[in-house]
Amino acid sequence: MTDSQAGTQRPGKVQLDEADLRNRLTPEEFQVTREHGTEQPWTGPLLENKESGTYTCTCCGAELFDSSTKFDSGTGWPSFYDVLKDKDAADLAAIETKPDTSRGKIRTEVLCGKCDAHLGHVFTDGPQPTGLRYCINSVCLKFQPN
Ligand SMILES: [Zn+2]
Repeated sequence: MTDSQAGTQRPGKVQLDEADLRNRLTPEEFQVTREHGTEQPWTGPLLENKESGTYTCTCCGAELFDSSTKFDSGTGWPSFYDVLKDKDAADLAAIETKPDTSRGKIRTEVLCGKCDAHLGHVFTDGPQPTGLRYCINSVCLKFQPN
């Protein structure tokens, strides 16, 4: 897990226009990525996707997860045990994390490292080698087959 925090300047950070996003995204995509929503479990189109490829940010297209790290967590949301490196800064992960204490729970929020889109949360009950479980809303991701 990185110790980066929202607002930290990093290479290639993008500021997306809200009006443009509202045009481009579905209402659910906008609500989850920009207003920190959560999609209904077992509904996401990428949940059962087992093809080989790369998962990118719905909002900005940044490459976030590789299909080789996707696993069946049984939670109803696409789950990954690792994250890709930032293409513009290989010592950084493609995502950022920050503490989330909403809903009376202490969780770690996962955000796109480029555009700060809300993606989901990361938990420490994942499989080896990382022991992490990135629990990501399907609507926050687009799939690019290899
Ligand atoms: Zn993004």
